[in-house]
Amino acid sequence: MASAWETVIGLEVHTELATSTKLFCGCPNRFGDQPNHNVCPVCLGLPGSLPVLNRQAVELAVRLGRALGCDVHRSVFARKNYFYPDMPKDYQISQYDLPINVEGSLELPSGQRVGIERAHLEEDTGKSTHMGGGGRITDAGYSLVDYNRAGVPLLEIVSKPDLRSADDARAYVTELRSILLAVGASDAKMEEGSLRVDANVSVHHPGEPFGTRCEIKNLNSLRSLGRAIDYEARRQIEMIEAGEVVRQETRHWNEDDGRTHTLRVKEEAEDYRYFPEPDLVPLDPGDDWIDRVDAALPELPAQRRTALAEVAGVAVAEGPVAIAVERGLDDLARAAIAAGGDPRRVLTHIEHNLAVEGAEKLDPSRLASLVIMETGGELTATQAKAVLAEMVATGDDPVAIAEAKGFEAMGADALTAAVDDAIAANPDEWTRFVEGDDKARGKLTGFFVGQVMKATKGQADGKAVTALLRERAAG
Ligand code: ADP
Ligand code: MG
Ligand code: ZN
Repeated sequence: MASAWETVIGLEVHTELATSTKLFCGCPNRFGDQPNHNVCPVCLGLPGSLPVLNRQAVELAVRLGRALGCDVHRSVFARKNYFYPDMPKDYQISQYDLPINVEGSLELPSGQRVGIERAHLEEDTGKSTHMGGGGRITDAGYSLVDYNRAGVPLLEIVSKPDLRSADDARAYVTELRSILLAVGASDAKMEEGSLRVDANVSVHHPGEPFGTRCEIKNLNSLRSLGRAIDYEARRQIEMIEAGEVVRQETRHWNEDDGRTHTLRVKEEAEDYRYFPEPDLVPLDPGDDWIDRVDAALPELPAQRRTALAEVAGVAVAEGPVAIAVERGLDDLARAAIAAGGDPRRVLTHIEHNLAVEGAEKLDPSRLASLVIMETGGELTATQAKAVLAEMVATGDDPVAIAEAKGFEAMGADALTAAVDDAIAANPDEWTRFVEGDDKARGKLTGFFVGQVMKATKGQADGKAVTALLRERAAG
């Protein structure tokens, strides 16, 4: 019997570099300006114009390369020849056999390492808008073209085929995005197109050679990426099981019908007639430049996760650790834990109650005070949440907020008394609680907790009440 199918995925991510000007001219690199205002003879490909390489683009490319642990090589720009109306020169200046960054990797929060084949520099194309016919060129009445984006610096980051599921793929893009932001290489906004993903997908049985891949374009959200991979893997499996053969091709993801469609049968490298760009010299940043970049690299997300997990005494792969780093709240968490806040509660607040604007401005020692009040039984979890929301809004001290809200300390004695009162006032329910099975007990726990909450105006801690009820029933 054949073993189960396995999906194999390699991603090509195009990211616009956060330079102030374009890759080969001085035009502004800015999103959202009036169409065709940021153009000049170079990025319009007018005869006689010559490209001059942007130093800042090289700096950002090297930064990302080193953050991914790549070797930075002497590289050569190449012309990739093809026609499309949004590319005025009829060729794209890219890098081909000698890219700037090669052989790196990144680590997902799960601990899985994903190989990076290369991350090379190239220029972006302009933007076509097909009018009428649902935005597709095939049935459009006419097309508009905006060259503001033509010549904007891009890094194409090509992963090895190391990913095995839609979840893996989303985690990879999320991690790569965090790294791009950490090193300041790009603003990496999928919704604005400054980070674009193409997915190569194939299926096989583990242990056998990889299957033929299809490359899927037009994935402009993490959700589309996941849906497209799942759809495409299923499509290929159904084909093979029906005795058909998967063709290598480029496919288009259609968000509306939830399917991929043939765009073109895969072109080969020869089709592009690559040759070294005669108007640019080879690029060799040299050791000094690379050393300077290395020395200035910030702490990267994977290192930040490790540091937080260590301080909190939890495993790196635990969900809240990655969430804290992703939201840029790991410094806050580390400092609050260092100031005496219980690590689990600090992480719980970060995960569930601090996905809000302004959370990063919280004073860590105040967050620690809040958590200490909570663990000391002065505040219930619900009260702590309300106090925290107020802390984010006003920056005030948790003690003052709790007082203003009338969240008084509920001492152990008062709590015990409230539980005993509730038991005395409801003898029938109590008998059923003591004698009942787990199910009956579960229901009656809710009833008694409700009674105690009512009597204490919500100041009791539900968990503590439950524990007391069990204690009383046992003896
Ligand atoms: P192309 O120029 O044809 O797009 P690239 O080298 O730019 O080729 O990209 C190839 C991508 O396809 C890489 O991300 C690689 O990991 C991925 N890939 C290669 N073989 C497979 C396969 N069998 N299944 C899935 N992905 C693959
Ligand atoms: Mg490619
Ligand atoms: Zn220009």
